[in-house]
Amino acid sequence: MAEICQSMLEDALSYGRAFTKEGKTAQYIPYLRQVDRDLLGVCAETLDGRRFSAGDTRVPFTVQSIAKVVALSLALQDRGERYLFSGRVGLEPTGDPFNSIIRLETDRKPYNPFINAGAIAVVGTIKGHSGADKFRRLLEHFKKLCGSETIALCQEAYLSERETGDKNRALAYHLKATKMLEGDAREVLDAYFRMCSLYVTAEDIAHLGAVLANRGVDPGTGERLMEANHARIIRTLMLTCGMYDGSGQFAVKVGYPAKSGVGGGIVATLVDRMGIGVFGPALDPRGNSAAGIAVLEYLSQAMDIRLF
Ligand code: GLU
Repeated sequence: MAEICQSMLEDALSYGRAFTKEGKTAQYIPYLRQVDRDLLGVCAETLDGRRFSAGDTRVPFTVQSIAKVVALSLALQDRGERYLFSGRVGLEPTGDPFNSIIRLETDRKPYNPFINAGAIAVVGTIKGHSGADKFRRLLEHFKKLCGSETIALCQEAYLSERETGDKNRALAYHLKATKMLEGDAREVLDAYFRMCSLYVTAEDIAHLGAVLANRGVDPGTGERLMEANHARIIRTLMLTCGMYDGSGQFAVKVGYPAKSGVGGGIVATLVDRMGIGVFGPALDPRGNSAAGIAVLEYLSQAMDIRLF
């Protein structure tokens, strides 16, 4: 296995650049439509404290579905593995698009915590007196996992999500109607829209990946931020379900756990080695950063780190 280094990251970035032209920014959320699709950045944070950055790693972008990782971590901490997975959400990939409603009618329980229906159900289980309280706790957990005090809501993205979030409302009310959602649907949705609209950078999510890689312990401070078993569950789900209905292809091509968001971010985690954060807002048809996948594929080959 080759060691990560600055020039390797820069080469990965140059390789990835060609792929920004192959995608387009998410069109269904007006705020995301107008983001510059040529942005691209990659940051790797190793568990022994080294950080390498290339490209637009300090440009803030909305975290979108990567927030589902943080919500799952908090829900596991609040309610435990047995409660969550026996009653509220499953552990299986779907092969359907991330916002699909089709299986809720026949199976009731959302297939996994990384599709929208599953994430909304997970947010419902997070402790809090109100949606605002749940979100406040989510934000605190976010800041810790990303090792950044500056993470904050992007108001414009939040309003845009809320305005165009009818599909998510349909999912939440369907879950409510079938007794699969805890709490008030409107409040849960508000916390969900807010967590998706948090501003992060590639450096922030690289740290999140490093905490997961370090089995739940912040590699910088030594503080335990989640149980080792919870970090293992999350890494496993990232591998099987983290890249929407492109997870199988990504596992073959790249070969390590990652979670993407329609804001163009991807967090990847290499157990006992490093976290990687990529940002490239041009998406492929499945909603994954086209250039981000190319960068991760390049690194995977350069370091020879595929798990299988
Ligand atoms: N806020 C987005 C939605 O609910 C998140 C989707 C994503 O990143 O996959 O549609």
